Amino acid sequence: MFFGWGYLLYVALPIMALSFLASSWVKRTYARFSQVRNSSGMTGADVARRILNGAGLNDVSVQVIDGELTDNYDPRTKTLNLSRSVATSTSVAAEAVVAHEIGHAQQDRQGYIAMRMRSGLVPVANIGSQAGPMIVMLGLILSLFTRSAFGYYVALFGLVLFAAVVAFQLLTTPVEMNASHRALGLLAENGVIFPEEQEGARRMLRAAAFTYWVALFGAILTLVYYASLVLGSRRND
Ligand SMILES: [Zn+2]
Repeated sequence: MFFGWGYLLYVALPIMALSFLASSWVKRTYARFSQVRNSSGMTGADVARRILNGAGLNDVSVQVIDGELTDNYDPRTKTLNLSRSVATSTSVAAEAVVAHEIGHAQQDRQGYIAMRMRSGLVPVANIGSQAGPMIVMLGLILSLFTRSAFGYYVALFGLVLFAAVVAFQLLTTPVEMNASHRALGLLAENGVIFPEEQEGARRMLRAAAFTYWVALFGAILTLVYYASLVLGSRRND
């Protein structure tokens, strides 16, 4: 009953449409700049080693993993995980992806505060995204049938749990923007990228950034929707 047309129309559909737009933009931009060879002729793995050494991150190891666009930096093991296509490609797209992930390695090394706060929020945000909505529903059903304030407070608790997801996304966006900003600097400082390729790398990173804004917007929209349900139920008492 709570997941009626309102939820579908004002929350689920806009989020789905925007997520689809964002991911197809990333894929299209990546496909396009995967075709543009970088003038240094270095593969993603070469670029990684060059930038890591240049940035004094010699102890970060580079590992090749499966999947497409699965590239990530793992702060626990200090490992830069590169997807096979990025590691072996000599494209502008590959160097942008590699430099972005090294941006995260640099954040980790410098103890970048937003990144540390985000890591701390991961467990709560995971619980919040799964259990939060269920607890909200449980509370609303309780207050509907028992007509007591208890259900309302249960729903409120679910709302606070889900707010952790919003907080997580609020931290993710600046962490990602910062990693991309560092990426462009790292590419230029280490002589990996030539000025005429810079625009391609920038476009790649801009498309990737859009996906984080969409995730943030989706989390806020969902929270607002649940909040309107919970506060609305209070008013109907
Ligand atoms: Zn990132």
